[in-house]
This record gives sequence, structure tokens and C-alpha cells, in this order.
Amino acid sequence: MDLTPIHPKVTPIYQTSVFKFASLAELETYYTTPDHGGMYGYSRSEHPNSDELVAEVAKLEGATGGGVATGAGLAGLLAAVLATCQAGDHVLCPAELYGGSVVLLSQELARLGIETSYVPLAELYDVARHRRPNTKLVLAEVLSNPLLVVLDGPRLAQACQREGILLLIDSSFTSPMLTRPLDWGADLVWHSATKYLAGHSDVTAGVVVARDPALGKRLRQVATNLGLMLAPLDSWLAVRGLRTLRLRMRQHSENALAVAQFLVASPAVAQVFYPGLPSHPGHELAAAQLLNGLYGGMLSVRLADDTAAAVDTFIQKTRLFPLAPSLAGVQSSCSYPAATSHRGLTLAQRQALGITPGVLRLSVGIEEPAELLADLQQALQ
Ligand SMILES: *Cc1c(COP(=O)(O)O)cnc(C)c1O
Repeated sequence: MDLTPIHPKVTPIYQTSVFKFASLAELETYYTTPDHGGMYGYSRSEHPNSDELVAEVAKLEGATGGGVATGAGLAGLLAAVLATCQAGDHVLCPAELYGGSVVLLSQELARLGIETSYVPLAELYDVARHRRPNTKLVLAEVLSNPLLVVLDGPRLAQACQREGILLLIDSSFTSPMLTRPLDWGADLVWHSATKYLAGHSDVTAGVVVARDPALGKRLRQVATNLGLMLAPLDSWLAVRGLRTLRLRMRQHSENALAVAQFLVASPAVAQVFYPGLPSHPGHELAAAQLLNGLYGGMLSVRLADDTAAAVDTFIQKTRLFPLAPSLAGVQSSCSYPAATSHRGLTLAQRQALGITPGVLRLSVGIEEPAELLADLQQALQ
């Protein structure tokens, strides 16, 4: 079938595992030309839908080295670590790191001889003190989960550059509408595209992009060799989500600010953690660093009745914030860190991180803000 006269406005879903070659000469060109001369061979290595997703994210991040799209956010972290580290190397992270990243690094990659250590974010900036001779990579998040501690990205990037250590930023909570870590001097940006990039809670995906083309190439090789590649339909869904990222992030941020201000005034709430509130310890840093005057859609609260029972009452009464332990969808949701992301910790460990029994995380969607406030009002009564 000759498709050349057809010009679809939207990239079709290339639901094919393999592509045809007209001749041995063409096959030879595919293998011997940089970037395969624009040809496609086998969808584990490359296909048009994941290429489109990576190109769009790279454009938003200002990433000149390209990157890779993977079947989940965590597969993106795996690709990033394996592209930069080998057995005997060390990764340095903040203690506040996302639980899934901790499990991948400390359970799986540790068995392969890549070690990881954790220091509180406030101390991480002293990379010279916490590095080891074999430290290859620092991994940090822009906003921590669930208390939204704000990273000083340029400061960390400078500290890493002084030590000659690569910096990988997990930008899942912020998206390129709020942060462009490569502009700070980071080397790699990683997204759980499951979250804001795709944005509709209907796909799991990861994207990693690099400043350096050699690193981008290594990411693609690792993803090809490990079979991490995101599937065509899922890539297409993520691209479709990305088309509205700018609009969504504005509405997520506006709604979250309205929700945060409402909750501050609620007698049922003891503390609100949102970087857009002047009372948040990281507010000044966030105001100086985050782009477009946006602070994102994630916030956490500590209920005045600091108990799991009070949280459970809220969960059973709310209609617009269902308990769904993910985030960043167009529809709001809530999560209970003590029973999800931080359930592996002891009560004392959680207490030390400030995650007391009454801490609840809200992912604020893009609904009509008045409806969200009315729901919170009745659920907290
Ligand atoms: C969800 C999440 C991840 C992992 O992404 P998956 O798509 O679930 O594999 C990594 N980092 C952060 C901050 C996340 O919220």
C-alpha cells in the first residue's frame, strides 16, 4: 500500500513491530548511516511515535542531545543510570527521594554493584563532602514528595559541575512549564510522563532527555538493549497529552493555589504545604526559580486531628478527590503517603520526615475551582 499521497494532520499510531526495506542496499543504509538515515527498522529500537514524543519533550526542555521514551517513568531512571554508571560506581541522592526510585536504586541496582547513598536535601548541596571517589551521578527532584521541599537547582548544578559529577533531575512534579533543569546546568532531565506530561491518568510512560548527544545516544542504546521502549499507542497518548501541557499546568497551578488558600483558612487543617504560599519555607526559592509564575498542582496538608482516622473520614466523604495513589491527572485525587509511598518506613522514620498520621497529599486537577472548594468544605466538616 502506497501511503505517500496521504497527509494526516496528526501523526498516526504506527502500530507495527517492524518496518520494511525495499532492498539490501536500503537495509545497508539503515545500519551504516547516522540516525539510520531517517529510516525505521524495528520498534524496540525506534518508531515514529516515540521519536515524536522525545522530540517534543526535548524541545520543551531545550535538550540538544535527544533522549528516549520508556514504558514507565522508572524504566527511564533505569536507562539514565545504566547510561551513566557501571558496577563499582556510586549515585548520590536526597533522603526525600521518591520511594520507587529508592527501591530501584537500593534493591535492584545495588545487586548489580551500583551503590547509592542518601543525605538530607538541605545537606546535598555540599556535594564535595558527600561524594565518594566513585560517584558518577547525583539524582534530585525539583519538589519533594509529599511535603514539597523546593530544590535550589542552579546551586546543586554548580556543586556537581565543580566535582565533575553528572546531575539528573526528576522533573515529574513540575514539567517544563515550571522548570527547565538543563538551563541550570543539569545534564539529564527525567520525567514520569505518567504524570503531567501525559496528564490524563491513562498511560504509564517515562522520558529522559540529555544535553550531550553522546549521552542521548547511550540512553537509546540502553533502552533498545533492555527492551525499555515505550509502545506506539502509549507514545501517541503522551504526545496528545503534551499538546495541552501549557493550558493544564496553568489551571492545575491556579486551582492548587485556590485550594491551598482555602485550606489555610480551614479549622480542620493544621498546616498546608504548597510552594505557592508565602508561608511555605521554600516559597522564596520557588518564586525565584519556577517559571511562568506557576507553582504546580501538588500540595499536602496536615489535618488538625493528626490521625489516620481523620484522613479516612475525609477519603470517605470527598467526591472530587478520590484516593488514587498517583498524581497529576486532569481529575483531582488524593493519596495517603503513610500507607503508599512511605509505607516501608517505620513510624519514627516517617515522623522524622514530618509525615505524621494526618498528612494527606492532594493532586489538584483542572476542574472548576469553586466545585473543588465546595467538595473540600463538605468533606472536612
Ligand atoms: C510516579 C513517579 C515516578 C515513577 O514513575 P512511573 O511512571 O510510576 O514509573 C518517579 N518520580 C516521581 C517524582 C514520581 O512521582
